[in-house]
Amino acid sequence: MELLDPRDIDVEPRTLDERVATFSIDIETDYGTGRTEALSQTDRFLDLVAALDVPLTAFVEGQFFENRRELCRLLLDRGVDVQLHCFDHSLPGDTAEMLRRGAAAYSDFCGHPPRGYRAHTYRLTTELYETLVELDFRWDSSLMTALARGRNTHPEFQEGDYFVLDGCLMVFPMGRWRVVPIAFNHSYRLLLKSPAEAIFRTAFGPRRFVAYNVHMTDLVRNDSLASAERSPVSRLLHKYLWSTHGSDTFGSFRSAVKYLRRLGYRFEATDDLCRRLTP
Ligand SMILES: [Zn+2]
Repeated sequence: MELLDPRDIDVEPRTLDERVATFSIDIETDYGTGRTEALSQTDRFLDLVAALDVPLTAFVEGQFFENRRELCRLLLDRGVDVQLHCFDHSLPGDTAEMLRRGAAAYSDFCGHPPRGYRAHTYRLTTELYETLVELDFRWDSSLMTALARGRNTHPEFQEGDYFVLDGCLMVFPMGRWRVVPIAFNHSYRLLLKSPAEAIFRTAFGPRRFVAYNVHMTDLVRNDSLASAERSPVSRLLHKYLWSTHGSDTFGSFRSAVKYLRRLGYRFEATDDLCRRLTP
């Protein structure tokens, strides 16, 4: 499936007048395996973001609104901005039909339709874009412009803090450093390690808009990767990522929050940001 091509649509790049960060978590089974060793510790992470006073957006697998309703309830009860992720992470990505099913399951559970979406591996395809518009979604936060899986290389998406597509869908791109096309999110920071990040902080700093994403599998140590289909390289990277950490990487998350706060970033749930920017 083709990634969204900006030449097929009207892309309006927009600039924010201040630094803004959104914090998000993709709520999915561990590496899409169906295992939940990491996922089952979601409440610990919710305690951490509450202690740090950070608004959180959760992109939840569509099928969870059908079969893991207690987890969805926990997120809503804890005041999380709950939005829609792909329907089933064990599949390569949503088709239009799966996106419709996920949106319907969300609506049934939440009592209103979802406003925001994040595609599997940040892959916003033309088919998904058209379906988001058809279903009246207000925003998407999938666009990855850094060197990472799901990267969309079109130059039209390189400028601007966020985008309005065809005058109707806001797109908030994934966080990245300025100048260098490296993602600024939890797993990439863990791979970068503190000494290299210190250099990046001094030399570049993050872009004005940051969507900082995490997964439970990069937050708590777990063995679920053993049953996931992954290349030897990605297993090696995973080992390297965890090499300087104990049972969790909460300290690193805390450090990212403190860093952005020190730089004066305004922290907002993604849906609140969309509402504020909508005339
Ligand atoms: Zn995901």
